Amino acid sequence: MTAAPMTADPGTPVRIGVLALQGAFREHLETLAGIGVQGVPVRLPRDLAGIAGLILPGGESTTIRRLIARWELRGPLLDFAASGAPMFGTCAGLIVLAREIAGGEEPILPLMDVTVRRNAFGRQLDSFETDLAVPVLGDPPVHGVFIRAPVIERVGADVEVLARLDDGRVVAVRERNLLGTAFHPELAGETRFHRLIATMAAEHQERAEGSGHRQQPTRRGGAAGSSSAA
Ligand code: GLN
Repeated sequence: MTAAPMTADPGTPVRIGVLALQGAFREHLETLAGIGVQGVPVRLPRDLAGIAGLILPGGESTTIRRLIARWELRGPLLDFAASGAPMFGTCAGLIVLAREIAGGEEPILPLMDVTVRRNAFGRQLDSFETDLAVPVLGDPPVHGVFIRAPVIERVGADVEVLARLDDGRVVAVRERNLLGTAFHPELAGETRFHRLIATMAAEHQERAEGSGHRQQPTRRGGAAGSSSAA
């Protein structure tokens, strides 16, 4: 009786996809299993059917970019975002979602109104761990694992900053249905981001079912409800 409800209605359990092209996707599937949410590996466009949210894992964004193109996932992923389904990018997954990549690289799925800089911590701080205050997740700090992590250099007007490093640099953000962290919560046993996206997904599913709409989105290029064109 203590578990938070993870279903839109008792008959329809929420399923969350995890983009499983490369990188730390297994850890996300395990984290979802640990909180009682069904995770679904997504490798092909058809895998997006029937899921109410999507996690984009960390890894190597150049490789993920290539594999998204190779498996013709770009259009379907943009459609999925436009349907209002929540998407959560960690590390390379955040880079995949960013509307701008500092240094002139083409964006991958220009969805979130942020500018990210890849490998922002240089050689000395290649990888590090630190505790972060993330007020939307409650009191205990989040233990952030940063691995060749990006930093968020610019946030758009509609983007909420969820966490900063002690020096003020932004490392976690939310914009409507999109969540992004520069670090890996799934490598530190942190489950609250996964609970948050599961809750957002349940709400999305409930809205979609309530309005009689199927989850299959219509074709739209830009961010859901975004103020500027992608
Ligand atoms: N350095 C990687 C990139 O730029 C991201 C690293 C990660 O996801 N842990 O794509």
